[in-house]
Amino acid sequence: MDVPVTAAELDEITAEKAFSILGNETRIAVLQELWRADEPCSFSELQKTVAPDDRGNFSYHLGKLAGHFIRKTDEGYSLRFAGEQVVRAVLTGTITSDPTMSSDETNQECLYCNTQLQMSYEEETLNLRCENCAGLTARDVPHGTTMNFEFPPAGLLGRDYEEIIYAADVLYDSKISPMIKGICPECTGQVSRTFTICSEHEHDDDGGCPNCETRYEHWGTFQCDDCRYSRSFPLWYAALNHPAATAFLYTNGHNEKVPFRKVTWDNRQFVQDITGTTLQEDPYKFRITFPVEDERLQLTLDDELDVIAVEKVKK
Ligand SMILES: [Zn+2]
Ligand SMILES: [Zn+2]
Ligand SMILES: [Zn+2]
Repeated sequence: MDVPVTAAELDEITAEKAFSILGNETRIAVLQELWRADEPCSFSELQKTVAPDDRGNFSYHLGKLAGHFIRKTDEGYSLRFAGEQVVRAVLTGTITSDPTMSSDETNQECLYCNTQLQMSYEEETLNLRCENCAGLTARDVPHGTTMNFEFPPAGLLGRDYEEIIYAADVLYDSKISPMIKGICPECTGQVSRTFTICSEHEHDDDGGCPNCETRYEHWGTFQCDDCRYSRSFPLWYAALNHPAATAFLYTNGHNEKVPFRKVTWDNRQFVQDITGTTLQEDPYKFRITFPVEDERLQLTLDDELDVIAVEKVKK
């Protein structure tokens, strides 16, 4: 296709209209029933289940949902993607519950010191924090934070602390990968990236830098142009899934398949020593160095975070 689709061509409905359509119990019940049925339903099937005493108004409510949230075919009514998303938001608890967990000690050890991490949960955000060191960052998050991540309330159900942390780690990886490739994991929109480089980076006794409030000098912030979903992370994350990095890690005993968050206690010395260097500005070129005992792997990244050079250097 030569001409990209514009937002106007997407047949958008305004947020106000969407919320007014959904602000009705019968309509939400229709969406949930179509979800449960998992196959198209006729008008009478739906009405009998959702609103047995209300035949007249029921057709009015269905008409409101038709088009954007549900579709009607010869087989009956079924959910459109937007309708599925509404039911998913209800099921994950993101719009229906607001649990909180006050800070509590977990068995998970800090990547940077051997202290057990504290976990808390508030406003759908999971926070893991070390009370003994600077953790990963204190920028816009509590001091010592190693993870601050939006996590749906449903993810807390039936899991102990360690299982929650594991689930959050896996989910984190699944969000970061498309963002690095320029695709929003929430809405599929296009992602813009900006770099934050601390020009006077140094380490306090607890490992954090007093100037940038984080442990690493180079950070990338990725934000969706459409839905504003955003993530920030040390730039070396972007180099981790390059085959040269994966192979280097594997031959040196770091064998997690998706290593962004799964850098464990055993790997902590390794993670602590990863460094970034700005080789060039405008356009940016960075070098990420992964050190092991007697050699180091150096990856050169361009401003789109593509690896453009790989070098192994003996110490
Ligand atoms: Zn720590
Ligand atoms: Zn700094
Ligand atoms: Zn988005």
